[in-house]
This record gives sequence, structure tokens and C-alpha cells, in this order.
Amino acid sequence: KAQAAVKIAKRSGKVEIYRNGVLKEAQRRFTLESKLRDALAQGGLTLAFQPLIHLQTGEITGFEALARWHDPELGHVSPVEFIAVAEESGLIAPLGRWATYEATQTLSRWDAKFGGPLPVGVNVNLSPIHMARDDVASMFEEALRYSGVEGKRLTAEITESAIVADPDKARKLLFALKDLQMPIAMDDFGTGYSNLASLHSLPIDILKIDRSFVFSMLEDRDKAVIVRTILSLAESLGLHVTAEGIETQELALELQRMGCWQGQGYYFARPMNEADAFDYWRARWNFETV
Ligand code: C2E
Ligand code: MG
Ligand code: MG
Ligand code: MG
Repeated sequence: KAQAAVKIAKRSGKVEIYRNGVLKEAQRRFTLESKLRDALAQGGLTLAFQPLIHLQTGEITGFEALARWHDPELGHVSPVEFIAVAEESGLIAPLGRWATYEATQTLSRWDAKFGGPLPVGVNVNLSPIHMARDDVASMFEEALRYSGVEGKRLTAEITESAIVADPDKARKLLFALKDLQMPIAMDDFGTGYSNLASLHSLPIDILKIDRSFVFSMLEDRDKAVIVRTILSLAESLGLHVTAEGIETQELALELQRMGCWQGQGYYFARPMNEADAFDYWRARWNFETV
């Protein structure tokens, strides 16, 4: 019966189409993995920097460092795609190490250009797969030492899944990062399985409300309720909140009114290269931006 079905499908061309689809996907994965390996080895990745804005004062408090990859043949590849490939292929640890060194080196280059330490920090994303390794704290320590940047200027953005996967390991790492004076932010907050007790017992400083709740909160009552709930939860736990995905002035003003600490989004600025991010900061550092 199954064979008959295959025969019929074959005749109608469905099996071929299916086979081609799977094959194409596997080929793309394979190509991405080998090209990503080369890009990492040959300096083919860059970081883009997106400003983080203090919503109450309008000051630029820092930048989130976001990996960018432009391949001569493939063109721009989204980080959503190549981070997933890196996580599946063992490349995420070298990628995370590269991003951490590059981000801290960028801060020290900005400091040199400015003639003193900029009053801004940089946020680096840490994959849960990378976090499972034993050398993450020493990686941060070495990057800080190598760049001469103070730990309080380097924020680690982690996700809830890393804590769920191995709570004891996560706890040890997070306390080691606190020993380095590093702030810790919980990224994509609200999208995963949060353990509220862990928010309380782990040394987390910042909750980043996921863009999916922020962008429609003015039209969608449910989203507004979630944002409000996260804000009051954070207040009772003594945590700061960053709202990501702020695309309009209305959203910026509403979040400011709700008492949200920090914002990030296209309304303020898109992620920029190192030079443009520095110019953005220098042009505005003593002006209000909200
Ligand atoms: P994320 O850490 O939540 O970063 C925020 C994402 O939202 C970025 O996408 C940013 O460009 C985008 N974004 C910011 N403001 C707005 C807005 O107003 N509207 C819209 N539509 N989007 C906005 P991006 O750069 O494509 O990165 C996607 C994800 O890839 C990141 O999400 C992060 O999870 C991951 N990623 C990027 N770079 C790295 C990295 O170096 N290491 C690791 N482990 N993950 C990274
Ligand atoms: Mg992030
Ligand atoms: Mg985020
Ligand atoms: Mg996100």
C-alpha cells in the first residue's frame, strides 16, 4: 500500500519535489557551515551596534553588539539563520569568543578616539549552547583584560533556556560574571519558560522585553498587559527593564510614561557599523534623544 502511494506520488512528481526540498535545505546548511567556518577564520564577520537609550533622560547608555555576515556569493545572511547553523555545528563558541573580543576591542578603540572612556557599555549575546561550556567566564575575563575595558561596561545577554537547561551551571557562571562586575540581561524575556524563582535567586540585573510584546502594545490590549506585568514584576524584584523593537515615537513616549528604564529600536537607530555608531554617540551624547 505504501509502495503504491509512493508510485502514485512519484508519478505526480510529489516525491521529487519533496526530495529536492530536503536536499536543497541540507545543501544550504552544508554550504553555510563551511562558509561560516572560513568567515570566522578569515575575519569575514562584523559587528553592528544598536544604541540603547535611557528612556527617562534620553541618554545613550550603550550599544547591543549584533553579528553581521556578508558573503560574496550568498549576500547578506541573517543572524537568525547563521547563529542556528553555528549552534548546530560547534561554531558558536568561536563565534561568541570572536564577538566578545571584537565588542570590547571596539569599546577601547572608541575610548582612544574620544580621548577617555566613553560613558557607554556594550551588550554581547551569549548562546545557551555556548553557555554550557566550562570556559565562558575565563573568556570574558580574558577579553576584558586584553581590551582594558572595565567589566561594568560589558553586559552579557543570556536567555531563559540556558538557565532551564542547567540551573547549577548557569548559577555558577552568572556569579562568576558578577565577580567581573558584569551586568547580566535576560534577553527575549516573556517568550520562554520563565522560572520566577530563578529571577529572584540569580544575579540578573536587566529584563529585555521581547519585541513581539512591544511592537503591538498600543493596539493589542493583551500585549500591553504583558508589558505592564513585566514592568511591575521587575520593580518588585529590583530589576531594570529594556524594551526592544521600539519603532515609533508613540511607543517610546508610552514606555517612558510607564516608567520603563531603557529602550532600543529602529525609532532611535538601526544597528550601525563601528564608525557610524561612534559618530551617532558623539553627535548626541549631551543631547536628549527621546
Ligand atoms: P536579539 O538579541 O533579541 O537582538 C535584537 C534583534 O532585534 C536584532 O536583530 C535587531 O536588529 C532587531 N531589532 C532591533 N530594533 C528593532 C526594531 O525596532 N524593529 C525590528 N523589526 N527589529 C529590531 P538581528 O540583528 O537580526 O539579530 C537577531 C538575533 O540573532 C538576535 O536577537 C540574537 O538572538 C541573535 N544574534 C545576533 N548576533 C549574535 C551574536 O553575536 N551571538 C549570538 N549568540 N546571537 C546573536
Ligand atoms: Mg540580544
Ligand atoms: Mg533581544
Ligand atoms: Mg529578540
